[in-house]
Amino acid sequence: LVVCHNVQKDYGANKVLRGVDLTVKRGEVVVLLGPSGSGKSTFLRTINHLEPVDWGTITVGGDYVGYEPGPGGQPRPTGRLARARARARISMVFQHFNLFNHLTALENVMEAPVRVFGVPASQARETALRLLAAVGLQNHANHLPHRLSGGQQQRVAIARALATSPRVMLFDEPTSALDPELVGEVLGVMRKLADAGMTMIVVTHEIRFAREVADRVVFMDAGVVVEEGPPEMVIDNPSQERTQRFLRAVN
Ligand code: ATP
Ligand code: MG
Repeated sequence: LVVCHNVQKDYGANKVLRGVDLTVKRGEVVVLLGPSGSGKSTFLRTINHLEPVDWGTITVGGDYVGYEPGPGGQPRPTGRLARARARARISMVFQHFNLFNHLTALENVMEAPVRVFGVPASQARETALRLLAAVGLQNHANHLPHRLSGGQQQRVAIARALATSPRVMLFDEPTSALDPELVGEVLGVMRKLADAGMTMIVVTHEIRFAREVADRVVFMDAGVVVEEGPPEMVIDNPSQERTQRFLRAVN
C-alpha cells in the first residue's frame, strides 16, 4: 500500500534521509524505532508530503505522493488532483495533538471532512459522533480541548485523523507528551485500530506496544534503515550493534 524508495532529504548540509526504503502492506502495522535525530519524523512528514523530498519516490495505493520522478529522475510536484487524492488517503497524528483550541471535540473531528472534502455537515456530524464514541469520548463531544486531559485530546486527534477515511495512518510519538497514566488509553485505541485492520506506521518508544502490536519493526539511524523484521527479531534478538545499543538505552 505504501512504497518508499530511496527517499533522500537534506536540510542544508545536514543529510537527514539518506535513501530510505520501506514497503508497508495493506493492514500491516509497522513500528519505526530510532534515536533522536535519526530522521523518523522527517520521514513520516515526507510520506504525508508535509515535507518535499530531494530524491526518491513515495507511492500510496499506487499514486505518487506529492512528487513524481520527472525527466532524469528528478522529483517534480504531482498535479493538484493527484495531490488531493494522496492527501485524502493519509492521516497523521502528532505528539502534541495539534487540535484547534477554539473548536469543540466534535467540531475538530468534523473540520476536515466539511471544509476540505465538502461533506455535508449533518453527515460529518454523524460520522464524527460515531468516531468519538469509538475512542471512548461520546460524552465529551461538546468540550473544548482545554477541558480534556492529554489522553482525551490525543484520542480526539485520532478520531479527527480517522474522519477522512484514510487508508494509512501515521503516528509520530503519539504518547510521548502524555503523563504516564494516560499513555495506556491512547495505546489501547491504537491497538483497536490495528486489530480492525488499519494500515499504520507508528514512531514510538513504547517497546511493549511494538512487541505486541507491530507486524514489523524498522530500526532507523542516521537517515537509513539499519534493520527490520518481526518484533521478536528486531527487539528481542537484533542483529545490528546499533540496534542493540539503542534498545539497551530505552529499555
Ligand atoms: P526525535 O526522536 O528527536 O523526534 P527524529 O528521528 O524524529 O528525532 P527528525 O526530527 O526527523 O528526527 O530530525 C532529523 C534531523 O533533521 C535532525 O538533525 C534535525 O535537527 C533536522 N531537522 C528536522 N527538521 C528540520 C527543519 N525543519 N529544518 C532543519 N533541520 C531539521
Ligand atoms: Mg521525531
